[in-house]
Amino acid sequence: MQARPGGHCAVVTTSLLWFRRDLRTSDHPALLAAATAPNGSSRDVLGVFVADDQLLQAAGSPRRHFLAGSLRALSSSINGRLLIVHGRPETVIPRLAKQIGADSVHLSADYGPYGRARDARVEQALHQSDVPLVATGSSYAIAPGRVNKPDGKPYAVFTPFYRGWTAHGWRKPAGSAATVSWLDPTGVDGSVDLDIDISQISAALPADMVLPEPGEQAATDTWREFRDRAVADYDDQRNRPDRPGTSHMSAYLKWGCIHPRTLLADLGAPRSPGAASYQRELAFRDFYADILFHRPETLTRSADPIIDALDWDSGQQADERLRAWKTGRTGFPYIDAGMRQLLAEGWIHNRVRMGVASFLIKDLHLPWQLGAAHFMDHLVDGDIASNTHGWQWVAGAGAQASPYYRVFNPTGQGEKFDPDGDYVRRYVPELRGVAGRAVHRPAELTNGIPDGYTAPIVDHATERFETLRRWQERRR
Ligand code: FAD
Repeated sequence: MQARPGGHCAVVTTSLLWFRRDLRTSDHPALLAAATAPNGSSRDVLGVFVADDQLLQAAGSPRRHFLAGSLRALSSSINGRLLIVHGRPETVIPRLAKQIGADSVHLSADYGPYGRARDARVEQALHQSDVPLVATGSSYAIAPGRVNKPDGKPYAVFTPFYRGWTAHGWRKPAGSAATVSWLDPTGVDGSVDLDIDISQISAALPADMVLPEPGEQAATDTWREFRDRAVADYDDQRNRPDRPGTSHMSAYLKWGCIHPRTLLADLGAPRSPGAASYQRELAFRDFYADILFHRPETLTRSADPIIDALDWDSGQQADERLRAWKTGRTGFPYIDAGMRQLLAEGWIHNRVRMGVASFLIKDLHLPWQLGAAHFMDHLVDGDIASNTHGWQWVAGAGAQASPYYRVFNPTGQGEKFDPDGDYVRRYVPELRGVAGRAVHRPAELTNGIPDGYTAPIVDHATERFETLRRWQERRR
């Protein structure tokens, strides 16, 4: 306990707030819990982010860059009083708690397989010095494990989950603490320079890559712009990668620069098909987190084991095809545009994510895990639950999945969702001279395939047949 300088009898306790995927100060239940002692008096709060190598090494440069920017923004919103410490959380957090005499350590709960195991280790280490680890809130509208079937079992299919999710309902935004007394971290644990600590988290981006502005204010601005301009038309526009019809909130939601509950409260009781559809997409995020919570083994293994047992390609040709897919040189313009958008922006439109994923799995016969890993390396919004189960959905491997025999036509998808070809021309400069939807079929142009562009690396009809053959064979 510390006496506040100049105070008479005000004895102030301290707590530690461990930021993770909640890099904001508003609508932050764990911050409110950290700042207020059980007797209602205020507490000094030390805000900490632990740069955990295990997580950082698994994150590609776009995610690290965005994380570093969001930490910078968070720090400036709390008067520069963010402490960043490198190390293992189970060592760092108890050490810091002891050093500042914290009576409790606060956090927003993490439900991923790694996060849960890590938090259990931290809790155990803190227990030795009698400091409680207090989880308040999570990154989800409704935390994983809460929405269950009437018999108490988890849902495996989205539509009934969604019904249960809306019936369960979610809390109102938590509001913000009027004033938080942030503890000055200077000298704590030998801290010297926040910029240096943040720069060790960040990673250099390729020169031509452009990411969204990080941080809480940018999240709020992006959301408001989308809400006022586009949410009403979201249902019509969300499948058009050539138009700015989606919210681009995924990276902000991933790092908790804004809470989904804030978005849901803003939508209110959805009055337009667009708002209703947007609410449903936020439920998808909760659904995938719920599946991963109940079935952590699906992080690397297909929920349906038949998929991992299929005959997948390997060897030199498979490696070359994988490389062509990663670099956007498959000769299928819609697929190449998507893969190049990923390299240029760390983001791909959802419709195109499905198309490129289907192409890798069902035209190139490569396992979804290879594609998921590449996405996690390059996505700024890379999130293990949404990514793993987005891939499993396309692979027909998930608890909730598209049937395996549903094979997207990479050319047809382009003509359907990018009917004028604008999306392709934006990301594939070799095809900019081709007007209209003809851009989706460069091999059929009178003058042949434009210079610099590639002939299709596979024949879709043949590979579709091959996919179905392998599937039938395994099912026998
Ligand atoms: P909007 O259309 O504006 O949707 C609003 C929010 O709803 C999104 O920000 C997201 O949080 C949520 N959402 C929308 N669609 C989905 C969905 N299908 N599954 C889960 N949540 C959804 N999303 C990620 O956040 N991280 C990932 O790593 C990720 N990997 C994916 C991999 C594949 C193969 C597929 C098919 C989808 C993946 N998604 C992932 C889901 C979806 O593509 C993105 O959330 C969406 O494109 C983000 O753009 P947005 O914010 O403009 O979305």
